[in-house]
Amino acid sequence: MSKTQLNMFAAMRSTFQEQQELTVQSMNAYGSKYDHWVFAWSGGKDSTATLTFVLYLIESGQIKSPKKITVLLADTRLELTPLWMSTMLICDQLRNRSIRVDIVTAPIEERFFVYMFGKGVPPPSNTFRWCTPKLKIDPMMKHLERLYKSKNEKFLLITGVRQGESAARDGRISMSCGKDGAECGQGWYQLTAPDSICDKLAPILHWRVCSVWDWLKIFAPMAKYGAWKTEQVADSYGGDEAEEKNARTGCVGCNLASKDLSLLLTIKNPYWSYLAPLLRLRDMYAELKKPHNRLRKTELQIKKDGELAKNQNRMGPLTFEARLWGLQYIKDIETDINTIAEQEGKPTISLINTQEESAIRRMISNNTWPQGWDGTEKKGDEPFLQRFNDGSAQPDLFIDIV
Ligand code: SF4
Repeated sequence: MSKTQLNMFAAMRSTFQEQQELTVQSMNAYGSKYDHWVFAWSGGKDSTATLTFVLYLIESGQIKSPKKITVLLADTRLELTPLWMSTMLICDQLRNRSIRVDIVTAPIEERFFVYMFGKGVPPPSNTFRWCTPKLKIDPMMKHLERLYKSKNEKFLLITGVRQGESAARDGRISMSCGKDGAECGQGWYQLTAPDSICDKLAPILHWRVCSVWDWLKIFAPMAKYGAWKTEQVADSYGGDEAEEKNARTGCVGCNLASKDLSLLLTIKNPYWSYLAPLLRLRDMYAELKKPHNRLRKTELQIKKDGELAKNQNRMGPLTFEARLWGLQYIKDIETDINTIAEQEGKPTISLINTQEESAIRRMISNNTWPQGWDGTEKKGDEPFLQRFNDGSAQPDLFIDIV
């Protein structure tokens, strides 16, 4: 079909008004069964649209308010500065409306850079995605448990999962955070929050991305819709280019995204251009992945059940030298940004704060390694005997078989 050919399905697309009506219907149908609603908010565009739109529906009398509302904000400590600032502005607006906002952060030893440089776990990747559970899901689930235990009453968890019309029609909810500008974590909240403590609802599941932008940029800031400070959210997605570029939301420098579109778009704005050194994060992750910065298992690996491990010769944690190099690398990025920020009177950043740095140094001096490693392993760039999954080895003239 040519690009210009008429598409009979286009006529079947729902209007923004129809999408809103469906949200009202779903909130009225399911929301009224619960006294307590809890929002899983990341500050990203979809969960911000969900939160502000549902609150507008309550304030305008289109849906009935529950007895209690709690907003849970996951703070990964890696939020992009303009997005985090707009999040804080909306936080103030929520608190001014007497809505409780709980900011949920991972315990210090599980925060991104502490886990990497203190414990030695290599940067996350698509095959080893430890970050979303550690930074978002586990802290959020623990807090949900606490909320449940405080009243022993099931609540409604409202997420910002949005998959547009086709996925909504299929009834699928995916955990992917890489598609169609999705927010990292939202699908996981939807799928992993235990049914024993809450039921889950994604009231804008069926919204198209243009509807989200219309809400955030045009309607929500208007007094009659709540005067929400949502326009700034668009800054983190490229301002006027936000809709067209449709960047995903997540941590700055996310190593799992093919490119850090949000950051690239943000620094195109002259005001935020001083954040450009954050682009160096991904170079650091690539460097840390290299063999000379890691340890490797070189002896025959047998599992607890006596079976041969499938990943013989696997590379593992970061050496102490690599961790200290990474720590300094981050501090240099911070210095480069904050020097300009202070000169120009702009917001400073903190990727690793003093408590986190102390934790990293303490863990290194306590000889901390991930489970199954103790630091006696060979470095990843040293010669090693190649072992295969069947237990055989490739003899080498220069290495003794152990
Ligand atoms: S945004 Fe990227 S780095 Fe952050 S938790 Fe999600 S996948 Fe991990």
